Amino acid sequence: MSSVSPIQIPSRLPLLLTHEGVLLPGSTMRTSVDSARNLQLVRSRLLKGTSLQSTILGVIPNTPDPASDAQDLPPLHRIGTAALAVQVVGSNWPKPHYTLLITGLCRFQIVQVLKEKPYPIAEVEQLDRLEEFPNTCKMREELGELSEQFYKYAVQLVEMLDMSVPAVAKLRRLLDSLPREALPDILTSIIRTSNKEKLQILDAVSLEERFKMTIPLLVRQIEGLKLLQKTRKPKQDDDKRVIAIRPIRRITHIPGTLEDEDEDEDNDDIVMLEKKIRTSSMPEQAHKVCVKEIKRLKKMPQSMPEYALTRNYLELMVELPWNKSTTDRLDIRAARILLDNDHYAMEKLKKRVLEYLAVRQLKNNLKGPILCFVGPPGVGKTSVGRSVAKTLGREFHRIALGGVCDQSDIRGHRRTYVGSMPGRIINGLKTVGVNNPVFLLDEVDKLGKSLQGDPAAALLEVLDPEQNHNFTDHYLNVAFDLSQVLFIATANTTATIPAALLDRMEIIQVPGYTQEEKIEIAHRHLIPKQLEQHGLTPQQIQIPQVTTLDIITRYTREAGVRSLDRKLGAICRAVAVKVAEVQPKEAKLERSDVAEREDTQGIVQFVNCVRTTVFHVCREHILEDEKPESISDTADLALPPEMPILIDFHALKDILGPPMYEMEVSQRLSQPGVAIGLAWTPLGGEIMFVEASRMDGEGQLTLTGQLGDVMKESAHLAISWLRSNAKKYQLTNAFGSFDLLDNTDIHLHFPAGAVTKDGPSAGVTIVTCLASLFSGRLVRSDVAMTGEITLRGLVLPVGGIKDKVLAAHRAGLKQVIIPRRNEKDLEGVPGNVRQDLSFVTASCLDEQPEGAHPHPHRSALFHTAGTTKDIFNVSWLLSLLPLT
Ligand code: ADP
Repeated sequence: MSSVSPIQIPSRLPLLLTHEGVLLPGSTMRTSVDSARNLQLVRSRLLKGTSLQSTILGVIPNTPDPASDAQDLPPLHRIGTAALAVQVVGSNWPKPHYTLLITGLCRFQIVQVLKEKPYPIAEVEQLDRLEEFPNTCKMREELGELSEQFYKYAVQLVEMLDMSVPAVAKLRRLLDSLPREALPDILTSIIRTSNKEKLQILDAVSLEERFKMTIPLLVRQIEGLKLLQKTRKPKQDDDKRVIAIRPIRRITHIPGTLEDEDEDEDNDDIVMLEKKIRTSSMPEQAHKVCVKEIKRLKKMPQSMPEYALTRNYLELMVELPWNKSTTDRLDIRAARILLDNDHYAMEKLKKRVLEYLAVRQLKNNLKGPILCFVGPPGVGKTSVGRSVAKTLGREFHRIALGGVCDQSDIRGHRRTYVGSMPGRIINGLKTVGVNNPVFLLDEVDKLGKSLQGDPAAALLEVLDPEQNHNFTDHYLNVAFDLSQVLFIATANTTATIPAALLDRMEIIQVPGYTQEEKIEIAHRHLIPKQLEQHGLTPQQIQIPQVTTLDIITRYTREAGVRSLDRKLGAICRAVAVKVAEVQPKEAKLERSDVAEREDTQGIVQFVNCVRTTVFHVCREHILEDEKPESISDTADLALPPEMPILIDFHALKDILGPPMYEMEVSQRLSQPGVAIGLAWTPLGGEIMFVEASRMDGEGQLTLTGQLGDVMKESAHLAISWLRSNAKKYQLTNAFGSFDLLDNTDIHLHFPAGAVTKDGPSAGVTIVTCLASLFSGRLVRSDVAMTGEITLRGLVLPVGGIKDKVLAAHRAGLKQVIIPRRNEKDLEGVPGNVRQDLSFVTASCLDEQPEGAHPHPHRSALFHTAGTTKDIFNVSWLLSLLPLT
């Protein structure tokens, strides 16, 4: 006869503590993994990515002790079953929950627990292998007899079952093919036994004892079956089938057998859940569904994957705030103060928000358009949304819609497959725990569309006051009333918001800030916030207004204040780092502080220490020139007077690096083939450097830099116009040919950002840029231009003039070239900006643009070095400078 356990298990095993039953060698069990300890074990030992790693686990039966701390390892049963994990199923939502399928291999005994956290690992001794089949004659006889007796009962039991069921037939075959020593374990786990009995069998390390203990269990089961067959004779066939199938899972309903004590404990959770459903204030329809589901749940074995799904569902249902809401406290005067306190400028937006709130207060209902704040990033849209929630005393929840392209993101997945979950709306409600929060639908203009349905259509239902009182999430499958939720949307542009959605919203434009406004925002709001976040005080660091202005003009170029905020954060961080670098120098002076820093309690000391160090460094620096003799005092200075660290331009350069935008314009226009265009993007107006280069090739045109289709057409038009006018303007390629594309490739690039620069308005800029490239002249660095061109060289009007002019002004340019028919748009440009700039208008590439004042040196545009030859004196190309 073969040995019981041919498998050699490792001498160290990770321990899985199960409280759902006792696993015996040779049998298989499903166990749900919900304790933190077991979760850790499954994650780190069994799951590698999504695949299952075959690892041998030590399975220890464990009765949870409610009194003991869940953190501590409970006293462990000494004997367990080494098992192989065959399958892991489960989901991570709403909380991680796995079900493990494990097969028992052999008994082992814990020698010593080596590690308790995050999951226990023990040194173990394999027991079943040690249990040799007895070789003394007498014992073999005795055991032989015992095993024979056992075998007889086992066969009798199996034959009472319905042999036509494949599982029973297989069991019958197993009785003959398996080594006899394996049978007690296997049969014990099949027949109806309590966990206590199974535990006794597990503890019966000696084979003889095991046989002896199992026989009465078999007999009891046989008697139970006999009784059953007698009482239900007429329906015998059916019963046989019932009984025959159940042993393979878990025999639960055979009358006349022992009750499973532990099962009751397992059912506690369900009872709790049932109670919660009963006491919950959910609407009738939802209540009905819950009652139905809990009935189903009760009948389901816990090991079924659907069990976890249904339970998660029910848990969500009872947790949802069906009837729970906060009480609005709306006082318009207080709201105004709060909005003013939190936000500088943005008067128009604040006014409109207050009006909206006032109307709501008077009308006392929410039906009305959804507010949608539209403006560039970082202008405070989200932040105003948060303030609205605060003034109303409501919960706030932000739902980011950028990139959402699946409607189940909004409406949830149907509960038919593992991993299904509710949509973001229901999830948000669960998070905030009340049914009347403020939901900020962020970036509605960035909703996508895909094969998985149109999320915008789902949003329509959410936002429509006529429909949203019974919004049905696919996962919940019952209606939830969203009519109490206050929705606010934000977007960068209205252009990409689906029309139907736009129709339901009231658009409030939030413009970008001027430099002066940014400085105020920085000093009133951003700097105090950053200081607080970094644990600094105004006594420690000072950022004067000139520095803020430097950051705004030289380190950021944006309509909002987001990068400004980030740069301020970088300064706060860098100050600490810089000081830490000089720390060793200070270590001697402040040894106790340094030691303190080791523990987390020492943060205050650390900050003090940092300050002191800077103080000393500064002082040494100053004193070096002035009064060198007083330096010796420094060492004795226990508590130096506080001295703020001043961030001046030099410090700024140290921390943020050289300015990013300062020399850019003139530097970038230091060679032919670059011109400044003006573009309109959802982020506001922008100046855009159009670059061109040429190389040997076959007349190909390459375009790069996030372009819209129209822009590509503009590029082709520009090249065609230049080719047809090359002779007139003396434009030649590298080989001196007027055929500009002859053996030449052109590459045009539109740098600055990953924003799609759509619109035809770059035509004029491209012509200028290419004319510069093929004439070898520089383009004036203080001129920006915009205008659409036709094939014949006409200049057509374009949109967004106001934003574009503002961008040119922001960039410090002096002249702007615009299409003549756009002249009327200049009226919308603020007076001070108009004063600072000069405008040139024209309607044709060939003509003398109006308003241009030919500079003596600039009138001679295309001349070769040394000779001044007026080839033509009219054109856009007036903006080209002679190459000197
Ligand atoms: P958006 O949602 O428009 O992209 P945010 O609301 O996230 O911008 O604003 C970015 C940061 O700038 C926030 O910290 C916000 O408090 C701050 N901020 C923007 N505008 C103002 C303002 N007018 N007053 C005070 N802080 C502002």
